Amino acid sequence: MKKILPLLLMGILPFVLFAQQKCPNILIIFSDDHAYQAIGAYGNKIIPTPNIDRIAREGALLTNNFVTNSICGPSRATLLTGKYSHLNGYAFNERKFDFNQPVFPALLQNSGYQTAWIGKLHLGNLPNKGFDYFNVLPDQGDYYNPDLINNKNGTLRYTGYVTDIISNLSFDWLNGRDTAKPFFLVVGEKATHRVWMPSVDDLGAYDNIDFALPPSFFDGYDGRAAAADQDMTVAKTMRLQQDLKVHLDYTKDDGYNRFTPQQKKVFAAYYDKISKEFDSKHLTGKELARWKYERYLKDYYATAKCLDRNIGKILDYLDKTGLAKNTVVIYASDQGFYLGEHGWFDKRFMYEQSLRSAFVIRYPKVIKPGTIVPQFVANIDWAPTVLDIAGTKIPKDMQGISFLPLLSPKKNVVIPWRDEVYYHYYEYPEPHHVHPHFGIRTPRYKLIYFYQGLSTWELYDLQADPQELHNVYANKENNGVIADLKQRLKKLMEQYKDGEALGILERAQ
Ligand code: CA
Repeated sequence: MKKILPLLLMGILPFVLFAQQKCPNILIIFSDDHAYQAIGAYGNKIIPTPNIDRIAREGALLTNNFVTNSICGPSRATLLTGKYSHLNGYAFNERKFDFNQPVFPALLQNSGYQTAWIGKLHLGNLPNKGFDYFNVLPDQGDYYNPDLINNKNGTLRYTGYVTDIISNLSFDWLNGRDTAKPFFLVVGEKATHRVWMPSVDDLGAYDNIDFALPPSFFDGYDGRAAAADQDMTVAKTMRLQQDLKVHLDYTKDDGYNRFTPQQKKVFAAYYDKISKEFDSKHLTGKELARWKYERYLKDYYATAKCLDRNIGKILDYLDKTGLAKNTVVIYASDQGFYLGEHGWFDKRFMYEQSLRSAFVIRYPKVIKPGTIVPQFVANIDWAPTVLDIAGTKIPKDMQGISFLPLLSPKKNVVIPWRDEVYYHYYEYPEPHHVHPHFGIRTPRYKLIYFYQGLSTWELYDLQADPQELHNVYANKENNGVIADLKQRLKKLMEQYKDGEALGILERAQ
């Protein structure tokens, strides 16, 4: 026995270690509308996000992570398929995602993973494959006392606040999982989606902060017809009652009619005070817009506070259970979001705040703490990267590429990588009257073409104009740049097989 044991150790132990390294657990915390500029690791100095920052500090921060169609459902469809909207068929919100097409969690299952999606899914359909377990909010779901649909017991109502409930359900699933298998879990957060209802624990958490207006808040949209034609401003579109909770009607079905008496008491006491303050001020014009902006940010950040706290709870769980060392943790938002830039809330446009999305990843032993990844990655790359981490073959028809090599760069080795991203947005006219558009973003320039009800080109020099306030398409000195970008745009459409866009581009020349 004495002779066999070292042999066993020599033979089996390395195999076990290898297997563990080959198949780490993968946990994606996927939030909704959480702006990168609201996160400390991305430069926000006003509101702390210690737990998202912790993932970045202990792993990698992707500074140029872009989405290919900046709205909720389409981003989730791209996450599942590694494909652009025109190929996965989910270009618009509030449709039914076709789960009969290949989705990457099914490939993880084939590789021996146990898989689950818990929380917000928002694809108009329930998974018929790819997930051993799901427990998801119907559609947008509710912040308070939400219903969730699971594949074991159907629809159940849970008492409490959605972000806490989703964490607890995730812990329940993790505690009961088959520990012989690695796991893949998506924690689908509802936060920080409109109508930004904070937990009763966080009401007024940031009331002592005076949020400065972004420099572009009173944007006049000169030379930008599509930007002028939208319906997503804080000043006009944002609703005082349903969004900002001034004189709420708690009988209306906006999620406000689901409170327990105790929750309602605390919630109503806080917003009654806000409503009285609003009445006493008699605000109009720019002062009213400024007040709405302040209230928007206070609710948005208070909602995000609970999100970050729950990310901390998840990290603590991994620490306490010993899972942390062999679990990859990703925090990402489905897209970016406007926090008053250009006067807006919401997303959709190809401008920076909605195009760019938060993405941080911790992968012990592989990613060096504090790694910064500046290369251009896109949400089509997320699925191939997760498959690569799991040691699972990436299907050839996925349009993204694994950025795993970028996460552990070797000194003096340059990894060839793309320096352009292709974007295509569709949903029009409802709900925010943002004209469909496509475009290309390079490190310095962004070229966009808006169509349907409009036919306009926009060019931004991001070096000279990072706020994207000056459309310089008409400047003759840019003709060479424009010709080059149009050629590259056409090539990207061909590469990504966006035939519809190619037709529109041909007519637009
Ligand atoms: Ca979203």
